[in-house]
Amino acid sequence: MKQERIYLDNNATTMVAPEARDAMLPFLGEKYGNPSSLHAFGGEIRHHLAEAHDHVYDLIDALDQDDVVINSCATEGNNTVLQGVYHTVVRNNAKNHIITSNVEHPSVLNTCKFLETLGVQVTYLPVNKEGIVTAEQVANAIIDRTALVSIMWANNETGAVFPVEAIAQAAKARGVLFHTDATQVIGKLPVSVRDRSIDFLTLSGHKFHAPKGVGALFVKAGVRLPPLLFGGEQMGGLRGGTHDVHNMIGLGMAALLAKKGITDEQTRIRALRDKLESTVLREISDTGVNGGTQHRTPNTANIWFKGVEGEAVLWDLNEHGIAASTGSACASGNEKASYVLLALGIGPEIAHSSIRFSLSRYTTEAEIDTALETIRTVIERLRNISFTYKKG
Ligand SMILES: *Cc1c(COP(=O)(O)O)cnc(C)c1O
Repeated sequence: MKQERIYLDNNATTMVAPEARDAMLPFLGEKYGNPSSLHAFGGEIRHHLAEAHDHVYDLIDALDQDDVVINSCATEGNNTVLQGVYHTVVRNNAKNHIITSNVEHPSVLNTCKFLETLGVQVTYLPVNKEGIVTAEQVANAIIDRTALVSIMWANNETGAVFPVEAIAQAAKARGVLFHTDATQVIGKLPVSVRDRSIDFLTLSGHKFHAPKGVGALFVKAGVRLPPLLFGGEQMGGLRGGTHDVHNMIGLGMAALLAKKGITDEQTRIRALRDKLESTVLREISDTGVNGGTQHRTPNTANIWFKGVEGEAVLWDLNEHGIAASTGSACASGNEKASYVLLALGIGPEIAHSSIRFSLSRYTTEAEIDTALETIRTVIERLRNISFTYKKG
């Protein structure tokens, strides 16, 4: 009998929505023109691209005069902003200070590390037990030399949602540019750049059912940012390179679906996540949730199971066809405990025993029920063979 597979690792990547795939197919077939060409092969592409682009504007509530640069991924977006601000603000205005948090994605943290080697001073604000930094912390860290504040909207490991609007206001009040990595919040909670306090926002298609290899960067109208990739006039000169037509079409369709799906995310998916979490906590002793539960993306549960190794749990779950994660996909495979969980003040033992379950709009209640049964079996088995685990 073929085993049913249950995918609960949607913060790492998601299935391409069938509607997005269908929308893309003509552009991998007969519609292969270059939209920059003047002939009909190019012309027939352009209005499809414009429509897809509009869906991305809609998704984040951007204005027509803003730039929404379609690029390859959130890693590219984060690099474009951080390196771009270095070249414009840091080098020209002698403002050489950047503020971020200590739980950002490696694409922010490692770019900051690189900028430090170029003489930029970076403040990595520590998160609290809930897994967030407050607007007050950010306000207190701003100095005259601060060029940029870069704070994620939601964390990939804990789902913690940062008070981004308040943080953006705090930066704006001091005339400091503000960037947010919104990758984990897109499609999960409403996102709007309409209040004009956010200068840059990055997102990634493959985290909300678009294909891999496509993302977007919002740049507020009037804000200067040099391209990371110099080239032709594509994307208003903000990113060279022939348009990635099929991926842009996929991103557009995924954006349309994400905007429509927000209510389902907030009700049905949240309820499934809550069922998974509360059942584990009720029925399996010595378990708990990492981070706060109040301000969280609706699809994420990060749970510790005392006395077991997270990696061992993952392997056992995998044997039963269930996919989850011990942290960010980028961090798994090395022995270190998750830097995000450690930053919450969680001890290494608990951090090592933690599993992230992340749901999507394709997750069903039957899958959650099956997963719950399997989790119970797996934890019981591992605790029974553990030398160190003692109940209580
Ligand atoms: C996945 C992720 C990224 C990187 O996205 P890519 O498109 O794969 O580069 C950046 N930030 C966060 C918060 C993420 O979860």
